[in-house]
Amino acid sequence: MSEFVANLMAEVKAKNPNEKEFLQAVEEVAESIAIVYERYPEYRSAKILERIIEPERVIMFRVPWQDDQGEIHINRGFRIQMNSAIGPYKGGLRFHPSVNLSILKFLAFEQVFKNSLTSLPMGGAKGGSDFDPKGKSDNEVMRFCQSFMNELNRHIGPNTDVPAGDIGVGGREIGFLFGQYKKLRNEFTGVLTGKGLSWGGSLIRPEATGYGSVYFASEMLTTRNQTLQGKTCLVSGSGNVAQYTVEKIIALGGKVVTLSDSSGYIYDDQGINREKLDFVIQLKNIRRGRIQEYVEKYKNAVYTPVNPADDFNPLWNHKADCAFPSATQNEINGKDAKNMLRNGVYVVSEGANMPTSLEGVKQFLDAGILYAPGKAANAGGVAVSGLEMSQNSMRLPWTREEVDARLQMIMKSIHKTCVENADKFGTPGNYVNGANIGGFLKVANAMMDQGLL
Ligand code: NDP
Repeated sequence: MSEFVANLMAEVKAKNPNEKEFLQAVEEVAESIAIVYERYPEYRSAKILERIIEPERVIMFRVPWQDDQGEIHINRGFRIQMNSAIGPYKGGLRFHPSVNLSILKFLAFEQVFKNSLTSLPMGGAKGGSDFDPKGKSDNEVMRFCQSFMNELNRHIGPNTDVPAGDIGVGGREIGFLFGQYKKLRNEFTGVLTGKGLSWGGSLIRPEATGYGSVYFASEMLTTRNQTLQGKTCLVSGSGNVAQYTVEKIIALGGKVVTLSDSSGYIYDDQGINREKLDFVIQLKNIRRGRIQEYVEKYKNAVYTPVNPADDFNPLWNHKADCAFPSATQNEINGKDAKNMLRNGVYVVSEGANMPTSLEGVKQFLDAGILYAPGKAANAGGVAVSGLEMSQNSMRLPWTREEVDARLQMIMKSIHKTCVENADKFGTPGNYVNGANIGGFLKVANAMMDQGLL
């Protein structure tokens, strides 16, 4: 660790004790920005990174709601408005019992760099609640979303802050949130993305994060004159990102052998084909069931429960070429990374945000594999959210082909930005530096232009 990073981290730790995920995200970026500060001291004296680390605004609020039995519950709501140098705040909402300030600040911080990489005019934000939609009725989820929006509505708007979905927030939740915003504000406007197609949503938005992560992996493979055809792939998660990652891998000729949820994972040595994927989509999105049910239907597959307290995750301990972590943060630790490398994995494209611990990242970088951090590889989701905002402003929807073509173009351009910046700053092939530096420079220049804010 350089002296600059050590001093910065000591200060950030003192100010944000107990925010381990946030500190992890800052440390990973700080290592890259130290290189930029050496070459361009004007950013250092303007303390650009130090300013990006401090959110422009943190909003925290009470969300009371009533369950179907009439009992009252109180959850906590958040919105972290991290940086607005290059556009209105933009970033998802997460509903999960683990949600706290540290997790949302890490996600908002990552979002600043990710949104900048897309080349679209979007600042960075994140929000959510410790509410758990699992096991709740549709009516309970609706009442929660309405109560959440009762407060959030005064802090967002199509030119101020445009939230979207994330873990636990899909089409159903966005619908309830949008409906309540419209009622409270009496305006039909593009204040959220991930909307339904008949009321302002964009084609390809549900697919975008998963497709984008596979497009990014393909771009990385192209640098070695290879494609996904015939490659064996490990995918974690079974939600939105995982489902469309599997769909695109199948379309490009790869073979997916795993999927998971927070209870365990399935391993299907014959590969998950279109029919099996349709079963998973039905299972997770309509019946809201568990991935374990996959092995009741497909007897050749094996289910293994996973205990997060164990020191490694057996999902990452299978022979494969590529890995697409698409569940949650820190799902790959140092031991998992070692197992992956030993089993032949040489492409890692992160659909999830920060799924790899700092120790795991170091191992991937030291091994020189094609490793794409989430802020680059999963930027396709927010990119198509940006395209949804454009279509809302124009009041003109684009075709599926048009949005997909733009998504592919954006993923190609993010890949190019990563490669060029990694080269330019003396670390060729290092997509972590490439993404951090590429994302940083655009925001930094905007902040320099706009004065001390
Ligand atoms: P979903 O809620 O649709 O799916 C999340 C999946 O991950 C589920 O299978 C869930 O299992 C599993 N999961 C959640 N928490 C944990 C945990 N603590 N341990 C193990 N598994 C877990 O969310 P998304 O697919 O939208 O999001 C997945 C990841 O992708 C997140 O990191 C998110 O931030 C990131 N991302 C999402 C984008 C999007 O457009 N949706 C954009 C960019 C990044 P279970 O059902 O048991 O909870």
